[in-house]
Amino acid sequence: MAVRLQFWGADRQITGSRHLLEAAGRRLLIDCGMFQERLFLDRNWEPFPLPPAEIDACLLTHAHLDHCGLLPRLVGDGFRGPILATPATADLARIVLLDSAHILEEDASFKRKRHQREGRRGPHPEIPLYTVADAEEVFPRFRTVAYRAEAGLGAGLSARFQDAGHILGSAMIEVRIVDGDARRTVVFSGDIGQWNKPLVHDPTTFPRADYIIMESTYAGREHEDEGTVDDILARVVNETSAAGGNVVIPVFAVERAQEILFHLSRLVADRRIPRILTVLDSPMAVEVTALFDRYRGELDEDARALFQEGRSPFNFPGLKLFRTPEESKTINSIRGSCIIMAGSGMATGGRIKHHLIYNIERPESTILFVGYQAGHTLGRQILDGQPEVRINGRRLLVKARVVRIQGLSGHAAQSDLLRWLHAFEAPPRRLFLIHGEAEPALDLAGRIERDLGWPVSVPEYQSAYVLD
Ligand code: ZN
Repeated sequence: MAVRLQFWGADRQITGSRHLLEAAGRRLLIDCGMFQERLFLDRNWEPFPLPPAEIDACLLTHAHLDHCGLLPRLVGDGFRGPILATPATADLARIVLLDSAHILEEDASFKRKRHQREGRRGPHPEIPLYTVADAEEVFPRFRTVAYRAEAGLGAGLSARFQDAGHILGSAMIEVRIVDGDARRTVVFSGDIGQWNKPLVHDPTTFPRADYIIMESTYAGREHEDEGTVDDILARVVNETSAAGGNVVIPVFAVERAQEILFHLSRLVADRRIPRILTVLDSPMAVEVTALFDRYRGELDEDARALFQEGRSPFNFPGLKLFRTPEESKTINSIRGSCIIMAGSGMATGGRIKHHLIYNIERPESTILFVGYQAGHTLGRQILDGQPEVRINGRRLLVKARVVRIQGLSGHAAQSDLLRWLHAFEAPPRRLFLIHGEAEPALDLAGRIERDLGWPVSVPEYQSAYVLD
C-alpha cells in the first residue's frame, strides 16, 4: 500500500500545523494553521509545498489559529475541495478567521503609514497576508461532520472525527484507508485536552491505529498549581476585593474566557466570592460565548448541570459583557472592586493593555494569568517579575500582585499524553510526535521507545515518510 505522510508545519515547534496524507491517489491536508512563532513567520508567505489545487480535501481538527489560520491562503491559492470540520469548529473558525483577517489588514495599514513616515519599505510589501474578503471565500467550502460519523472521502478513504476535549468542537481525526485487501488506520490527535475539565469532554482514546500523529506541547511538563482552580480563583478575588483593588485577567477569546466565566459563576452561586462587578471586555470573546451557549448540548456534564438548574455558566449576577470601546472606557470610572477580563491573552495588544495601565501600579490590584505566556510578550515580562514594564510607550512600575493558574491549560500535560498513548491496546507501526519543542519531544520519543518499544519519529519541517 502506497501511503505517504509529509509534515508541513508544527515540526519541532508548536505552530503552523499542516500535514499531508497521500493514499489511493488522493491527497488530504490535515489542518492548515498559521505559523505564529517569530522565527517562522516567513513560512506563512511561502508557496504551499504542493499547489493547493492538487489537494482533494482539508480536514480541520479545531478552530485555533495555529490549526486553521492559513485556510484563506489555501483557498486563495487554488484549493477547490471541501473543508471537513465539526459544526462547532466551522462556526468558531468563522469568528477566528474574520478576527485574524481584520488584525492582518489593520497591521498592514499601520505598517504602510509608518513606512511612509520613515521613508522606507519593510521586508514584505505592506499588504496583509489575507483580507476579510479572502477569509469569506473559505466559509462556503466547509462541510460539517458530526462527532463519530463516518465521512466518505472517495477511493476507499474515510474519516471520523472524535472529541479531543481541547476546545469547543475540537476533534481527533481517524483516517481509514482501504486499498484492495490492505487496511490502514491513521490517527491524528489534533491538540489533546486535559481530563476532568468542566466545559469540554474528556479526550477520546483509541484501541488501535497503524500510525499515530500526536501533539507534544507539554511533552516535558506537568501543570503544577497549589490548590484547585476554584480555590486559587476564590482566594485571589476575595483578597483583592478586600484590599479594594481590581482583578485583571488577560484572556484568550476562545475557551479560556468561557472557562473563567464558568468558574466565577460557580463560585458566585456557592457564595464563595462576593457578587462584584465582572466585565468581559472583548467583542470577540462575547461572540464566542454566545456560540458556547448555542452548543450547550455539547458541553461537559458540569456545565450542563448548571443549565439544568436553570442557571448559565455564562450569565451570573454582576456579569457584564462589553462590546464597544465606549463601554470599555466606563470601566476606569468604576468605584469599588471589579474583575476585568480582556484580550489579548498574552497582553500583546487589545484592551487588556489599557486595563493594565490603570491597575499595574496599584498594590491592591492583582494581575491574574490563566494561559500560556510566550517569550518576549508583555504578559511574560510581568509574569517573570520585571519590576518595570513599558505599555503603549509609558514606563510603569509593577506594584500589583501577580498570580498564575496553570491548571486551566487546554493541553494535556506529560502524564496525560502518556495516558492517551497507553490506551492503545496494540503498538502502532510508528508514532510521530509533532506540535512540541524539539528537546522535550525528542526526550519523550526516547522514553516511549524505551518503555513501550514503539518506533517513534520527531519529524522535521517538510520531511516525508512512506508508510507501509
Ligand atoms: Zn489548539
